[in-house]
Amino acid sequence: MNIVFMGPPGAGKGTQAERIVASYHIPHISTGDAFRAAKEQGTPLGLEAKKFMDQGLLVPDEITNGIVRERLQEKDCETGFLLDGFPRTISQAEALDDMLTGMGKEIDHVIDLHVDRSLLLARLTGRRVCRSCGATYHVLFNPPSQEGVCDKCGGELYQRADDTEEKVGTRLDEYINKTAPLLDYYQAKGKLRQLNGEQDIDAVTEEIHSILRGQAE
Ligand code: ADP
Ligand code: ADP
Ligand code: ZN
Repeated sequence: MNIVFMGPPGAGKGTQAERIVASYHIPHISTGDAFRAAKEQGTPLGLEAKKFMDQGLLVPDEITNGIVRERLQEKDCETGFLLDGFPRTISQAEALDDMLTGMGKEIDHVIDLHVDRSLLLARLTGRRVCRSCGATYHVLFNPPSQEGVCDKCGGELYQRADDTEEKVGTRLDEYINKTAPLLDYYQAKGKLRQLNGEQDIDAVTEEIHSILRGQAE
């Protein structure tokens, strides 16, 4: 099963991806996570990506396409994959089509989580992430049982540098200008499935499962 999750920052892509990959046993490929790991390690890729990420801007397509191209060739992608946060521009989507065609594969489902801008701001500014395992929480909507501590691994929870009100504004503008046009791109290919991402976390997971089982209309 080859799946793409789309949606603005804060729509719930990462939260849902964690659950879906656990059920389908496919790798979770998050370009944001890959860039943050490279940044943390101080690699040349990480230092380059940092310049854009810290401003809330998209990293240039050539850099982003390169890491996805390499990742999709790894063995664990043979039975499928879940792309979270890629593609984010038309040019990335075209590059992805080329990569997959070259590998004799195609995307099965593009799932778009729709959430209103006002709610996205509240979701992003309250987001907390585990430094050790990457699990995602929210101070109000999905709090850990002990403040600041990951339920899954006991790791420390932190707030991402780009989850401030100011950076969120820039990121949402980037989404509207560069990523939202992709919805038409996938609609025209008959791949797009949109769902209401404002429901509670379990309800969204259930809807995604129905789409993947081919039972939703
Ligand atoms: P979000 O929670 O906004 O969906 P991500 O963790 O997916 O955030 O991305 C964080 C940042 O990493 C983005 O603001 C951008 O700078 C960079 N990034 C992630 N994916 C892409 C991509 N496909 N193209 C360009 N930049 C990306
Ligand atoms: P994305 O990967 O799309 O940026 P996340 O999965 O990181 O989004 O979710 C953003 C924030 O919103 C996190 O703090 C998460 O705990 C919270 N969240 C995710 N889905 C929901 C939901 N359905 N209802 C309420 N809060 C949610
Ligand atoms: Zn953890």
